[in-house]
Amino acid sequence: MEPSPMEWPVKRILCPKFAICRVYACAPDTNHMKVKKKSVGAWEHITKMRCKPYKRMQVWDACSDVLITFDKEDMQDEMAHIVENDVVVAALTKQLDDLSDNVQVKYRSKVVKYSWPMPHQQANAIPWVKVTLASGESVETKLLIGADGPNSMVRQELGIPTVKWNYDQSAVVAVLHLSEPTENNVAWQRFLPSGPIAMLPLSDTESSLVWSTSHQQAQELLELDEESFVDAINSAFWSNENQSELIETAGSLFRSTLSAIMPSAGSPRQLPPSVAGIGPKSRVKFPLGIGHASEYIRHRVALIGDAAHRVHPLAGQGANLGFGDVACLTRILSQAAFDGKDLGAMQHLLEYETERQRHNLPMMAAIDLMKRLYSTNAAPVVLLRTFGLQATNMVPALKEQIMGFASK
Ligand SMILES: Cc1cc2nc3c(=O)[nH]c(=O)nc-3n(C[C@H](O)[C@H](O)[C@H](O)COP(=O)(O)OP(=O)(O)OC[C@H]3O[C@@H](n4cnc5c(N)ncnc54)[C@H](O)[C@@H]3O)c2cc1C
Repeated sequence: MEPSPMEWPVKRILCPKFAICRVYACAPDTNHMKVKKKSVGAWEHITKMRCKPYKRMQVWDACSDVLITFDKEDMQDEMAHIVENDVVVAALTKQLDDLSDNVQVKYRSKVVKYSWPMPHQQANAIPWVKVTLASGESVETKLLIGADGPNSMVRQELGIPTVKWNYDQSAVVAVLHLSEPTENNVAWQRFLPSGPIAMLPLSDTESSLVWSTSHQQAQELLELDEESFVDAINSAFWSNENQSELIETAGSLFRSTLSAIMPSAGSPRQLPPSVAGIGPKSRVKFPLGIGHASEYIRHRVALIGDAAHRVHPLAGQGANLGFGDVACLTRILSQAAFDGKDLGAMQHLLEYETERQRHNLPMMAAIDLMKRLYSTNAAPVVLLRTFGLQATNMVPALKEQIMGFASK
């Protein structure tokens, strides 16, 4: 039995600022969505504010005519929801306000120093982690959860080895106004040779743009006037300038062979909506990179989210992996609390690390492989991915497995 949030001792949460407007694709009925359902209880607030379900995802290659689609059977059920980061933060804040007896949030606080305890008490060693804030105030805790993002100070101060590198790309994000209202229940992503461009539904008239491209093009996109920026987006989704006759012919031959073997498989191509304008001041760019901490835990410390792992946004998995960490750690700590154990002890933190690394590492490897596979327009690689994508699109059971893995 899990203790309810009301039974937990007072927790302190350090929160320096609300994050910039980003959106997440959140899958339903998954572990990490416990964040959205009963365990945290923020989902009700999110649905009252703004989130948009989508029923289908269409991913296609700009260098060939090949596409893959993901949907629930006959598009009856939603695949996932697009939720803005600001909405998630506002919903969690509202929920935290209701728990004010147990949870104390310190807004606009910056951690400037950590003092670490030793696993085996030495003379003068402190028993708990001590966190010193810029205000001079300090807080002591049996368990510090490091959720301080890709440049985590917690991770760095503990000297946890991290494998990381920057991609040669930045992502431009913006709110897009569609040229006419639609059901807008499809998430679109097209792989251009310079990087993927995605349009994710926000409402019947608005979508969110995530366009990963070279640093130089990202900067140029930010500097374009609105009309040229909108033209660039529409052309990125619609133009056939990167296609070649050789790839087209090989792809359509392969497609006809597959159709002969599996006549009913595959799914029809849909056309993305066209964009008419952008939200005021909504264009921002983020540098992209990958990183993985070789250890997620130390005595009295656990890393979660981007502090432990950072991925390319092409699969929309970054925040979802973090939600998965939260769900796993909550479950393990709830059991430890129920059993009257020390929350900061290595025994159950190890359980968390093993479970999450087993899930996160294969996902990170798959995302990095996709980034590399789609970062070229060399004919042999384009042919390889054309055949691979086409074959995968024709095997519903394989697509189900991919969707299942992505939602854990
Ligand atoms: C362009 C783009 C698009 C993305 N799209 C998606 C998507 O569709 N779906 C998805 O799942 N993920 C997506 N992601 C990934 C997602 O944004 C991240 O995985 C997620 O924000 C990580 O959350 P986090 O809380 O771990 O880290 P962060 O969001 O980086 O938050 C860390 C927080 O810690 C605070 N902090 C740091 N140091 C200190 C300190 N010393 N004292 C106090 N506070 C501190 C920071 O101010 C910050 O508020 C995208 C990322 C990018 C760049």
